[in-house]
Amino acid sequence: MLKITLKRDRERSLLRRHPWVFSGAIDKVLGDPQVGDTVSVFAQDGRFLGHGAWNPVSNIRVRIWAWQEDAVIDATFFEARLAAAIAMRERLLPTAPEGGVRLVHAESDGLPGLIVDRFGDVLVMQTTSAGARRWRDAIADSLMRLTGARAVYERSDADVLEVEGLEVASGLLRGQLDEPRITCVENDLKVEIDLAHGHKTGHYLDQRENRQLVGTLARDADVLDAFCYCGGFALQALAHGARSVTAIDSSATALSQVQRHLELNHLPGDRCTLIEDDVFKQLRKLRDQNKSFDLIVLDPPKFAPTAATAERAARGYKDINLLALKLLRPGGVLATFSCSGGVNADLFRKIVAGAALDAGVDAQLLRQLHATPDHPIALAFPEGEYLKGLLLRVA
Ligand code: SAH
Repeated sequence: MLKITLKRDRERSLLRRHPWVFSGAIDKVLGDPQVGDTVSVFAQDGRFLGHGAWNPVSNIRVRIWAWQEDAVIDATFFEARLAAAIAMRERLLPTAPEGGVRLVHAESDGLPGLIVDRFGDVLVMQTTSAGARRWRDAIADSLMRLTGARAVYERSDADVLEVEGLEVASGLLRGQLDEPRITCVENDLKVEIDLAHGHKTGHYLDQRENRQLVGTLARDADVLDAFCYCGGFALQALAHGARSVTAIDSSATALSQVQRHLELNHLPGDRCTLIEDDVFKQLRKLRDQNKSFDLIVLDPPKFAPTAATAERAARGYKDINLLALKLLRPGGVLATFSCSGGVNADLFRKIVAGAALDAGVDAQLLRQLHATPDHPIALAFPEGEYLKGLLLRVA
């Protein structure tokens, strides 16, 4: 047996079912575990804690698969975990065959380092832990069996791979796909996804309920979608009768995809202005031009991956929120987001409150926004709550 013993008093987080064992907590390693091997973790007093995957390169040395001592970590184990995750979505979030849904959300589904998104009948899989990588083939086979998908495409190219000591892996893993470009439907709109080059798994599924919400607020409104990427929010706003939409992104590729989506969905392109620019600069230009809006969306990329970078990120969030609040007309609405793991919901709200104060506006909180529930947050794993948003109205 490959056995890990923790230092004294270092078992607490595991007893609370947080699935990570950091290198500093480890006292002894028995046997010679290789990357991805299953190890059994014990407290100093010999008490069993969990079975997990070993990664000698990562600071997170073990990620726990199971808390039960009699659990056997084999292909059957993964098939059962995957089946449970898929069944939850089928029951609580039924999604049309042509729709998009996250089937597996890593630690929060008991499968550390594994993400699986379904876009229509194609699955995109990402493995960012040594354990998930070790079991990749078994997982891909199970996914094909359980979902009847046409193909499984792998997109394991996240930044975190380097600290985990894992190779980038991208391409078709199972099934047939003529080209890595597929179309799925979200909130009645067609979304074309570039599986090979799109961000993350190709499309940000976590915002789909928030996009719908923004759509319902957009009728007759002048809308600003900052950090629009392929147009997630902008397209919903146009489809729901926005008077005008201004969409900003620094990526020309992203903006050409917005254009493609306008055509694909027969949306009124003449009401949509695409601006290729840095949002920080463009918001200042719009202010200097005395522009104003009824509805603004701020959905920036991760400014703070970790708590250590939170301070710099806080300045960034404050800056764009302050500028956006000033660009709103009286009665206008701001949907503002942070997907930074290092900035929690409390801190984000404080930053935005500070921005409102400095902007000299009274703002009301209408809703707290989260990722769609196919991105659940295990209560024992607060890191799972990466996306938080506020829907605000200014007086
Ligand atoms: N709202 C989008 C997702 C946004 S992802 C959706 O619903 O799908 C973040 C986007 O911000 C990316 O497209 C990236 O190109 C863009 N971006 C990052 N930094 C930027 C900056 N400083 N100015 C403008 N765009 C930026």
